[in-house]
Amino acid sequence: MITVLRLGHRPARDKRVTTHVGLVARCFGASRMVITTRDDELVSRIQSVNDRFGSNFSVEYQRNWKNYIRSFDGIVVHLTMYGEKLGEVAGRIGHDGDLLVVVGSEKVPKEVYHLATYNVAVGNQPHSEVAALALFLDRYTGGAWEKEELGGKLKIMPSARGKKVETVS
Ligand code: SAM
Repeated sequence: MITVLRLGHRPARDKRVTTHVGLVARCFGASRMVITTRDDELVSRIQSVNDRFGSNFSVEYQRNWKNYIRSFDGIVVHLTMYGEKLGEVAGRIGHDGDLLVVVGSEKVPKEVYHLATYNVAVGNQPHSEVAALALFLDRYTGGAWEKEELGGKLKIMPSARGKKVETVS
């Protein structure tokens, strides 16, 4: 099971970005996102996507990120431009057991770099937690997300032009 920990979410300021972190996590193979600030609106936004497009992806609140990382039973990957290159470290990250992927927002506390099993850079340039997460999950799952059916009420039929959506009863 893959969990994404979104550090430093500020409900008013980070509304869109944290929603996108959640949607990317949901789409590319994670089962849940953990946030450390309560945000019921965020939970309902993601739930509404689940209701229409499927999956049991959940958003959970944990007050203390440090305890959460410390007590996580599995591999912890922290995505940071200061880390080891994705292409060099990816092969070393195990696939047995659970995985926690940590992404930041503003400045990430130093401890995170020490608590992580791997600090992974998706390129050593600054960009975005959304992009870093998408690329990392694609690489980690070997693209398996592409074959997954999330089983929603609405099913999009891939189409060269226009929008084709089936309602599944
Ligand atoms: N300036 C912040 C710092 O020094 O910790 C990082 C801000 S960045 C906008 C927000 C998050 O995007 C980071 O915490 C990291 O998770 C992710 N990120 C940005 N660029 C990245 C990269 N090249 N590789 C991996 N993750 C990256």
